[in-house]
Order: sequence, then structure tokens, then C-alpha cells
Amino acid sequence: MANMSFIRYHPLQGMDSGSIKALPPSLDKKDIGNFPLWLEEIVPGAFRLRSAEDIPGNDLKDTGLGCPNCGRHLKAISRHWDGKVHALYICANCKEG
Ligand SMILES: [Zn+2]
Repeated sequence: MANMSFIRYHPLQGMDSGSIKALPPSLDKKDIGNFPLWLEEIVPGAFRLRSAEDIPGNDLKDTGLGCPNCGRHLKAISRHWDGKVHALYICANCKEG
């Protein structure tokens, strides 16, 4: 199982643009608990934004998300979707290669 990949879950606090803060990550999705928003780190430096409830994609457009690992601005590389699964973000600083 050496190649098994682990998703890291980063709960997010705050819903207002510019005030969203990532809390320490967990490998267990259960730790997301009641958080309304979280990032799933699929590979180092790449994050999928997810929400517990449906959110219109437009509401997330100007969300100034910082990288949970280094604090730099995350760049959305896909569009924001309506629903519970949103844009994919990358951190140019943390991404491998
Ligand atoms: Zn980073």
C-alpha cells in the first residue's frame, strides 16, 4: 500500500471574503465535523473546495483563500460550481514540480 494517497482535510473558518482561515489539517474526514467549508488536499499544493450545504458558485468567486500550508494566495484553476463541490485551487508555492 506504499502508493496509497492520503487526502488531507483542511477545515475553513469564516465565510466572508478575505477572512477565511484554514485550521490545522486532518487525515480523517470525520474531523471536518460541522464546518461549513473545507479544502481537500488531493496532492500536495492542490486543493478542492467543498461545502456541507449547497452554495451558489458565484458566492465563492471572490473568496480570498490562502494556502493552508504557506498562507499565499490560492489560485482557482477551474470554475466555481453550484452545489457542494467547488473549484480546484493550486498553490504555486507548494505544488511539486
Ligand atoms: Zn502553499
